[in-house]
Amino acid sequence: MARKRRPNLVGPERFDEPSAKERTEPSRPHGRRAYLPYTVAPSFALEPYILSGYRPTYGRASRAAWSVIEMHNETLSIWSHALAAFAFSVWAATDATISSPLRACVSVHAAVYWTSTVAHTFGAVSERINHVLFAIDKSMISVMFLASGLCAASIEFRHRRALLALVAMVECACCAGVIRAIHAPRSGKVLNAAALGAQMFLTAAPVAHLALSGADPQLAARMCAAARRAIAPALIGGVAYALRFPERLAPGRFDFLLHSHQIMHVGTSIGSYFTYVGLAQWESLAV
Ligand SMILES: [Zn+2]
Repeated sequence: MARKRRPNLVGPERFDEPSAKERTEPSRPHGRRAYLPYTVAPSFALEPYILSGYRPTYGRASRAAWSVIEMHNETLSIWSHALAAFAFSVWAATDATISSPLRACVSVHAAVYWTSTVAHTFGAVSERINHVLFAIDKSMISVMFLASGLCAASIEFRHRRALLALVAMVECACCAGVIRAIHAPRSGKVLNAAALGAQMFLTAAPVAHLALSGADPQLAARMCAAARRAIAPALIGGVAYALRFPERLAPGRFDFLLHSHQIMHVGTSIGSYFTYVGLAQWESLAV
């Protein structure tokens, strides 16, 4: 049977699709488990400009679970979101000063980071499991916007039930649009960008309303600063990931440490932290 061509990640050289044996049995030089170079790594795991450190397809969840304590190109992606998930779970469970909507919001952020941790850990079990877990992982980003937007709206619009209901309805519709786009690859990209863009706009709408209403300029200035603190790190991480920076500049040099997926993970976690701090502050200051 003819072998499939592999995507060309870094240069003019092209490689044939590896055999199942090559994909599942890495060599072990120096007595240590060696992870796979991109020439024989499973195609579903490939990331542009990352040339080594790929896990093979394990076929077993228990083996994938062990890989969290080994050094491969997803180790720090797993641990960065595991730490964020743990921190948000602790805050949701122990912060007695926050309201129920904010506790629900923090719990959703924790669930998002647990989902990512699970996807990055068990995505190496098989191609099918990888696709299912990462589809859920991508959908959860929209659920995180939904939770943050609804929590902000519940603070700003608590005396304006009609506005709160409208924001909630449109947010839910956008969230459904994003999730549908992820599962419909043909029309996916445009629908995803439109729905996610609308949702991000709506998530910022309560802060914009506070600033434009002029009701409390001091509070509005503080909340605008808090929103910038939450958006900036997530945006930096997102742009780094979209541009595949810095690994694009030196393919192979950032395979294990500091590649754009890790930067994006750290950026989103810091953004979530400042979202939580900002909403808690808003809740305590709003009258
Ligand atoms: Zn990730």
